[in-house]
Amino acid sequence: MEIVFASNNAHKLAEVSSKLPENFKILSLKDVLGDVDIPETGLTLDDNAIIKAKYVFERTGKNCFADDTGLEIADLNGEPGVYSARYAGEDCSFQDNMDKVLRNLKGKQDRSARFRTVICLILNGEQHLFEGQVDGVILTEEQGEKGFGYDPIFCPNGFETTFAEMTMEQKNAISHRGLAVQKLVEFLSDL
Ligand code: IMP
Repeated sequence: MEIVFASNNAHKLAEVSSKLPENFKILSLKDVLGDVDIPETGLTLDDNAIIKAKYVFERTGKNCFADDTGLEIADLNGEPGVYSARYAGEDCSFQDNMDKVLRNLKGKQDRSARFRTVICLILNGEQHLFEGQVDGVILTEEQGEKGFGYDPIFCPNGFETTFAEMTMEQKNAISHRGLAVQKLVEFLSDL
């Protein structure tokens, strides 16, 4: 079965493809719609995942799924949340975003946070949501060079290392996205 992943992120496409049963063929956003940038106008992660999956389904009629991820920090009232990619402004870097988080957390006692990923699957016109979450803390300074985004300042509970100090395999085994993808794969494998 062909299924569209509404993303052009090569890393994410490879991760999902490697986990799906062989009878599934993943198509990227670019494969089906060319160079489009789907507006992420939702106020929640669920909204954005649904918006992106619907965008593809309405234009292609194909089975598809989309994901959205956010870092939710308790003492910042859940920020940056749905704005994780552009927390420090429209064209900001990962570094700008981390700097802003560290600035905003200065002097705060509670540094607990979580990453959450929501995947929306539209299969034969029906919508299904899958969620993965990992709890942890925001450190006071960066540690590690691997990964991307907020990885150097996020230490998952039960570990002494940040995501940026883990191999991709170690991170995928416990991460928000890894867990959400696992639920999607189990659902599709059972069809
Ligand atoms: P997206 O929905 O996967 O594009 O994620 C939105 C933003 O959340 C990214 O631009 C990153 O800043 C952040 N993010 C998502 N996943 C991760 C992760 O695994 N580690 C660190 N930051 C992440």
